[in-house]
Amino acid sequence: MELNLSGQFFGEQSNEDALQSEVQKMIVIGGGPAGLSAALYAARAALAPLVFTGKDLGGQAASTSTIENYPGFPEGVGGTEISELFHKQAERFGAKFLFDLVTDVDLLQRPFTVTTESGVFRAETLILATGATPNHLNVPGEDRLMNNGVSYCATCDGWFFKDKHVVVVGGGDSAFEEGILLTHYANQVDIIHRRDEFRAGAILLERATNNEKIQFVYSSVFEEILGEEKVEAVRIRDVKTGEETVHPTDGVFIFIGHTPNTQLYKGQIEMDAKGYVVVDKLMQTSVPGVFAAGEAADPDFRQVATSVGMGAAAAIQATRFLESE
Ligand SMILES: Cc1cc2nc3c(=O)[nH]c(=O)nc-3n(C[C@H](O)[C@H](O)[C@H](O)COP(=O)(O)OP(=O)(O)OC[C@H]3O[C@@H](n4cnc5c(N)ncnc54)[C@H](O)[C@@H]3O)c2cc1C
Repeated sequence: MELNLSGQFFGEQSNEDALQSEVQKMIVIGGGPAGLSAALYAARAALAPLVFTGKDLGGQAASTSTIENYPGFPEGVGGTEISELFHKQAERFGAKFLFDLVTDVDLLQRPFTVTTESGVFRAETLILATGATPNHLNVPGEDRLMNNGVSYCATCDGWFFKDKHVVVVGGGDSAFEEGILLTHYANQVDIIHRRDEFRAGAILLERATNNEKIQFVYSSVFEEILGEEKVEAVRIRDVKTGEETVHPTDGVFIFIGHTPNTQLYKGQIEMDAKGYVVVDKLMQTSVPGVFAAGEAADPDFRQVATSVGMGAAAAIQATRFLESE
């Protein structure tokens, strides 16, 4: 099941059988920006990496219509389009792609074993690039209006809300950091939180309180995001009184955490308390020969550019690791 350039898959069972019988120099798990960048660098180092993309070539990047902050595209670039370009470039140098979901890994002995829905594969090195998933509110209107006013990233989308009115959902540090960032663009930012106090740190709280563009709405939960083509309002409910109100807005920024897609590696590799894979500055994990890149190992930056950088670094270091043996 090899991918063609439009992200569809084709292929022959014999090809997969051959891949299973050989020990690969490198397997990359993940077909988002980090995995595709790692694949490119490893392919250029003649490692012929085998890449499991899971169900989404391009990962989160492919879920956004336009990326305006990736260098080299002054007019912006479509999320699907850039993913296909990354894929095509890696494939040109010999990366092999399977549209297959990894269901298990054995990191305890080399060669490492990677089990997928269609087979069992082995590799001398692994790059873990399974990304993360922004937590959703799971209210009506959220999925329908994603990219049309609903966003999970102020750095990515704040620019589209110049002089507009936006609401931020959440009460922790990231809601406050992103809310403060949004005041660089929007003329009003309402931080709406389900509790009557915030979890954000004292310094962020003070900065937000002193920012005249920020207003706070306490003890309120989202019931619905409203709008036809784009966000027009949110319906919220006061959890103390039960009263529902419609709050007009141009955008909804949801910062209620991210979940790293790292359950596969649990117990076999060092992770932080939130489940992010711990890497050093060379993208090395606690297991020699296993590297991690992108949002699976990055709770801080969460960008295409930073994920691509981590992917490149992981592949360079994995190449050095193989050469040193
Ligand atoms: C709506 C939205 C808009 C965004 N807009 C921007 C923007 O404008 N600019 C910007 O810089 N960033 C933007 N981002 C963030 C950016 O997309 C991410 O930082 C980036 O995609 C992270 O790359 P990654 O490769 O680490 O992980 P991901 O993109 O999360 O990719 C993970 C990959 O791993 C695969 N995978 C997961 N589990 C398995 C498994 N078990 N087996 C095999 N494969 C698996 C997935 O299929 C996917 O291919 C946006 C994110 C979202 C959600």
